[in-house]
Amino acid sequence: RGKRAFIAGIADDNGYGWAIAKSLAAAGAEILVGTWVPALNIFETSLRRGKFDESRVLPDGSLMEIAKVYPLDAVFDSPEDVPEDVKTNKRYAGSSKWTVKEVAESVKQDFGTIDILVHSLANGPEVSKPLLETSRKGYLAAISASSYSFVSLLRHFLPIINPGGATISLTYIASERIIPGYGGGMSSAKAALESDTKVLAFEAGRKHKVRVNTISAGPLGSRAAKAIGFIDMMINYSLENALGKGVICCLYCFRVSNLKMDQTEEVGNTAAFLASPLASAVTGATVYVDNGLNAMGVGV
Ligand code: NAD
Repeated sequence: RGKRAFIAGIADDNGYGWAIAKSLAAAGAEILVGTWVPALNIFETSLRRGKFDESRVLPDGSLMEIAKVYPLDAVFDSPEDVPEDVKTNKRYAGSSKWTVKEVAESVKQDFGTIDILVHSLANGPEVSKPLLETSRKGYLAAISASSYSFVSLLRHFLPIINPGGATISLTYIASERIIPGYGGGMSSAKAALESDTKVLAFEAGRKHKVRVNTISAGPLGSRAAKAIGFIDMMINYSLENALGKGVICCLYCFRVSNLKMDQTEEVGNTAAFLASPLASAVTGATVYVDNGLNAMGVGV
């Protein structure tokens, strides 16, 4: 039978999660999706109304099917963790069983097992603030939504991931180099995610024969990135401007290895490779899919 993938963090057809879903679907995988509760309604409506049909087209001309969309909020592990104001919030009250533990249970009930787990989500409420001005609350929220959310997903899904299975998350070069503008503890959260990739590769590999890798992706004008103004900052400024503002990554993106700005499809394809038996000896790795951005030392 074909493989089954659960992809957490799709709410439209612009982000890396969608691109990964498409590459996995093109390779024959069955696609299950976890969508952030507040974004669920609009995502499902758009899907139903055919708004994404153009971007659902696979290389063979067929349309990607999503077998099921699950509401998910990856900052909550089980119902006991959900505070009253969230429980009664009208964007949450309409959905149920969206904590990580409950979603894993529902997937088990509906499908039994999966082979591939993808974490394509991040959130940092104070991302537009420099680290030096970030509050404890904002920092911990970034870590909770962007790093621990992966630990939690893996922890709860591991019992239903078939041996030989693979997990993939998305990270960013700001974990290891200075990227002004990627604040609020998001750089710290990505550093944690990359370090955890190694430790979890060891633990999940020994325990369940499941591989754990992360893709360090180049910049993309996704909804999340636009929301923080980060991508606009990089794309809209001229090179000179960017230099003036200290946005060094802009130069890098344009100038590394003859660049292409975009690597969305390649991120999807790399995820499909990492999830496949072709990568059966790759685990604990941070794989750069960024047109060479990570290799630059100075903008030229
Ligand atoms: P995106 O907006 O498509 O994806 C982020 C998703 O996370 C959204 O669908 C959002 O609804 C979801 N989300 C936020 N909080 C959540 C929560 N508590 N529970 C469940 N879902 C939640 O944007 P994207 O840029 O494609 O992001 C996907 C991943 O790629 C993220 O990990 C991001 O950090 C990473 N990444 C992005 C870039 C970039 O430039 N866009 C670069 C490198 C890595």
